[in-house]
Amino acid sequence: MTLRRSWVESANSADTTFPLNNLPYGVFSTDPETMPRCGVAIGGMIFDLHKAEGDGLIDLGTPVFDVPYWNGVMDLGPEAWAALRARLTELFAEDAEALPGYLLAQANVTMLMPFKVAEFTDFYAGKHHAMNVGTMFRGPENALPPNWLHIPIGYNGRASTVVVSGTDIVRPKGQTKAADAEMPTFGPCKWLDIELEMGAIIGGSNAIGDTVTVQQADDMIFGYVLLNDWSARDIQAWEYQPLGPFQAKAFATTISPWIVTKAALEPFRTSTPAREKELLPHLVEPGPMLYDIDLAVTLAPKGKTATTIARTNYNQMYYSAAQQLAHHATSGCAMNVGDLIGSGTISGPEKSERGSLLELTWGGKEPLTLDTGDTRTFIEDDDTLTLTGAAKGDGYQIGFGACTGTIREAKPFAK
Ligand code: MN
Repeated sequence: MTLRRSWVESANSADTTFPLNNLPYGVFSTDPETMPRCGVAIGGMIFDLHKAEGDGLIDLGTPVFDVPYWNGVMDLGPEAWAALRARLTELFAEDAEALPGYLLAQANVTMLMPFKVAEFTDFYAGKHHAMNVGTMFRGPENALPPNWLHIPIGYNGRASTVVVSGTDIVRPKGQTKAADAEMPTFGPCKWLDIELEMGAIIGGSNAIGDTVTVQQADDMIFGYVLLNDWSARDIQAWEYQPLGPFQAKAFATTISPWIVTKAALEPFRTSTPAREKELLPHLVEPGPMLYDIDLAVTLAPKGKTATTIARTNYNQMYYSAAQQLAHHATSGCAMNVGDLIGSGTISGPEKSERGSLLELTWGGKEPLTLDTGDTRTFIEDDDTLTLTGAAKGDGYQIGFGACTGTIREAKPFAK
């Protein structure tokens, strides 16, 4: 696949991550008085889908862009998803009539949550991450739990605190306990961390009691975002056994503003790594269901330049989102349109490829030195953490927009 050229000049530039090949979906607002609207990114611009549908340029058989979220489109299913993409590809093609009246500069709008999150589940499907964290928390012999090579393990997170990129994050408070202390203490998290993840957005559903195959699960995925599963490591270490993370993860999860569709990522499909233990048949991938997406994390102290602290690739994951979704429904758990599934932290085999500060600084024992000369073990107040990702094609790239958040100081406890 090579670059598809568009009449929108900025979409043909070598450095855009939103060429005609991408067409990612978001929700934007121009000012507080005007209703937010669905839009699609093309180069440095946003195409106003609310206006286009109103004028009859887009018709999916039923109005879907009269609301500022994408759940209605998801609910129409894969045939409508393909029809919309085909229509947009036609509208923006180089030889099509230019429609400048429907375009706004991305620089002049605010991006909002692109969909209503029904429920959020976070997995733990990166083997390098699981080995690193397991070694730190339980020692190298017990690093990988006995179930890990047989099922993608996860926990039910909170949809209420999934926020769009650019939203400030208040440092969480909670209970922690030092190993040599008799009693725990309560206060602001001291070991605040990121988790570099991809999020899969579910556009289909299964009834309670029903299951889905891995192929059906792949067909149910609408698209992908970057996802930062902010984590309070000191709170997590105290609370996590035996039921897993709770308050350590409940305070915030940031996603990138653009939903990159499965269709845009199709040329970058790749298989999960070789199995170390054979999977039971219901979790075997019938084809490649992971994607080759370069990922990076930067950290910027207040008012200073950003330093890249990690680079890795989504192709490192042991389980795909399709396998995770199929596993999620195996018990008969109903999955719904708008569900969000976090991949688990994506770390590669090298130290520079680790997707969390916990791993990068080995539990705070090996501080990072930033390009600015500052050092970090975990995140400090007013630090800005940013995830980026791009699939690299022949003369074009498919990006997600930044997934960024700044940490603000903890609020006083409610009186
Ligand atoms: Mn996570």
